[in-house]
Amino acid sequence: MIQSVNSIPAFDIKQQYATIQAEVSNAVLEVLSSGRYIGGPAVEGFEQKFAAYNAVSECVACNSGTDALYLALRALGIGAGDEVITTPFTFFATTEVISAVGATPVFVDIDATTFNLDVTQIAAAITPKTKAIIPVHLFGLPVDMTALMTIAQSHNLAVIEDCAQATGASWNDQKVGSIGHIGCFSFYPTKNLAGCGDGGAITTNDSEIAAKVRILREHGSKVRYIHEEIGVNSRLDAIQAVILQIKLRYLEIWNQQRQKIAAYYYQSLSQVSGIITPQELLGGVGVWNQYTIRVSSKERNGASSKYRDWVRTQLQEKDVSSMLYYPRPLHLQPVYENLGYQPGQLPVSEQACHEVISLPMFPELTQEQQDKVIDALKDCFS
Ligand SMILES: *Cc1c(COP(=O)(O)O)cnc(C)c1O
Repeated sequence: MIQSVNSIPAFDIKQQYATIQAEVSNAVLEVLSSGRYIGGPAVEGFEQKFAAYNAVSECVACNSGTDALYLALRALGIGAGDEVITTPFTFFATTEVISAVGATPVFVDIDATTFNLDVTQIAAAITPKTKAIIPVHLFGLPVDMTALMTIAQSHNLAVIEDCAQATGASWNDQKVGSIGHIGCFSFYPTKNLAGCGDGGAITTNDSEIAAKVRILREHGSKVRYIHEEIGVNSRLDAIQAVILQIKLRYLEIWNQQRQKIAAYYYQSLSQVSGIITPQELLGGVGVWNQYTIRVSSKERNGASSKYRDWVRTQLQEKDVSSMLYYPRPLHLQPVYENLGYQPGQLPVSEQACHEVISLPMFPELTQEQQDKVIDALKDCFS
């Protein structure tokens, strides 16, 4: 379908680039003429700045958020025979890497208002094989890290925070990614801090873990051509590193703009019968990578996504784009059939998949556009 010029996109990365075009072009041209394209001072500079931003001692950049999660699991020695507890309501990469290292994901249901792991259900999922928990700060809203760390510590489990959608979010004044043992970030173009291509990083206060990740991302090698273990090639390009350094300076402003939009959506939509707005926990400051509502109607919905799909069609007819994060929970994915989960087993996640709609959300979204989204939605419920 061809969109009219007045249509409102779900996100708009070109518009943001336009605001910093001169800075970015100059920095990229400098890298091009420097001849240092992989690693080097640009990447080291970004690692230092990103560590400082998150108030951690170590940052190791890599090729993607997926690789960051993979490298984190490898650095902790997690593999065959181990179990890792996580949420089924996330992007597939979170559990793909658990499987890739040979471990088994164990799914715990989510909380209906935050979309995040229901921390009260974690203890029941712990077995002698459990080695780690991966909380995902989904849509940019922090998990209750106080409760989660208490459980992890009492069972001696590692905590790997999936911060892919949450760069800049905090829990009790601590940045996400600085609370567990390792934080994993993605700089994919639609994330809050985004490169112009793939990129990722881990953060930690543990220098041994950081050293391990540095070796693993470089073919298991510390000294060139001497290989201590099987690693991968997962480095950040210098071009991405300079772009990320520039964008990091704007991140707080952009996140504040997202927070303002989220507050306005909340103010305008939370009282509309049939719409459930997302809730931040007390202690959490979210950065709203997505603003995801649930639409439900007892008469019209039930256990299917028909009603939600109808709402999305109505929005599209009014030139309002929306996204579907996520249409199917991970415990019911074809690839995980062997794990033996049944429909109905993790009901909150399954219902969320039928009811969610992610509204347009990016820092440059104008007041007029926000009003148009709100009006189009209200029309569906009148
Ligand atoms: C984007 C994302 C990832 C993967 O990051 P990439 O950089 O795309 O590899 C992992 N987890 C979550 C929750 C994500 O949203």
